[in-house]
Amino acid sequence: MDAAKTVIPDLEALWMPFTANRQYKAAPRLLASASGMYYTTHDGRKVLDGCAGLWCVAAGHSRKEIVDAIAQQAATLDYAPPFQMGHPLEFEAATKVAALMPKGLDRIFFTNSGSESVDTALKIALAYHRARGEGQRTRIIGRERGYHGVGFGGLGVGGIGPNRKMWSANVMPGTDHLPATLNIAEAAFSKGQPQWGAHLADDLERLVALHDASNIAAVIVEPMAGSAGVLIPPVGYLEKLREITSKHGILLIFDEVITAFGRLGAATAAERLKVTPDLITMAKAINNAAVPMGAVAVRREVHDAVINATPQGGIELPHGYTYSGHPLAMAACIATLDLYKRDKLFERAAELAPKFEAAVHGLRGAPYVKDIRNLGLVAGVELESRPGAPGARAYEAFLKCLELGVLVRYTGDILAFSPPLIISEAEIDQLFDTVRQALQSIQ
Ligand code: PLP
Repeated sequence: MDAAKTVIPDLEALWMPFTANRQYKAAPRLLASASGMYYTTHDGRKVLDGCAGLWCVAAGHSRKEIVDAIAQQAATLDYAPPFQMGHPLEFEAATKVAALMPKGLDRIFFTNSGSESVDTALKIALAYHRARGEGQRTRIIGRERGYHGVGFGGLGVGGIGPNRKMWSANVMPGTDHLPATLNIAEAAFSKGQPQWGAHLADDLERLVALHDASNIAAVIVEPMAGSAGVLIPPVGYLEKLREITSKHGILLIFDEVITAFGRLGAATAAERLKVTPDLITMAKAINNAAVPMGAVAVRREVHDAVINATPQGGIELPHGYTYSGHPLAMAACIATLDLYKRDKLFERAAELAPKFEAAVHGLRGAPYVKDIRNLGLVAGVELESRPGAPGARAYEAFLKCLELGVLVRYTGDILAFSPPLIISEAEIDQLFDTVRQALQSIQ
């Protein structure tokens, strides 16, 4: 296709997600194709992908191995019903995903998105306690500034005010929230995990005292929070959460929708940060985002408790999706995980991390930069907000970067970076040089 000849279609019918629809449609930005580290826009400009699409295209775009696997699968078995029937690839994919999870988390449930993975994990947590005769454990603890997708369950445990306010009374009840871990006054410009903040996990003891452990089913956190603006866990914080949840029989869920599959330089954040939860939610890079897909990894004992609570022949978990284990998603997943292994992409992310860290911290002193945070191949640059116009400055920086040929992500006044793991050192320099230029050219 000649991208330069792509015509802008009629934009009116589509109600775009998480988008300022009127602003966008007044000046649309369209992507026409993608390959490796680059998108091509509708008007034929090459754009370096600084955020792996939406934290998800870890192996780079349109990889032949994945494209071929999907095409072949579509021609062989386009769809198979997942309830009371199965097809070989979903079992193969589950075995491959399980092999990448921390020891013990080897039972895998497939979904189609991060939001579905979160809601699935919350339901499994409740089912587990019920199966053990502790059905009163229904309360679930999330964290302020946490993002767990857009289902009513994920909204309930999520901690981003603007996402909740329209549905405030209807988000999942019975939740409470830990405090967010970011504190710029104490830990600005931390490289990697901040030294300050482990004590914030002690707040869980306060919530246990308030609600009583016998009523609490689970704690869910992102080990590294991405969507609210890259919040890196303080040294010792996740360890403390693990210790307190174990002490009180509360399940610990890591939402690894962003961190799973190499982002921090290991298969999971749990592996990289050496803290093992009871459940892990994932999506995005599980199949390089080539077909919608998510999954939940569950500790074997949790799985077994639920399975064994129902007599033989009974459906143990009345939950699942028409597209759970969809053949095309499974084919993409198997090809993707093979590609990660063959090209040692998780190791590559770990090797590139020091260079990435040095490059992003090189922005210290650039206009408006008030904090820089990073871990693995993720970084956030927080800008001073323009008085009376929160978010406007980062939006303009995003537009300027795009004009200069780099796609970045912004949330509030924070720029977020999470490139495909195949990025070169020269492209890392290009990414942050462009951001510097953009910051120098905006108000
Ligand atoms: N959980 C986390 C940690 C996420 O970052 C996201 C999306 O960015 C989700 C859940 C929701 O995923 P999805 O948009 O695929 O529903």
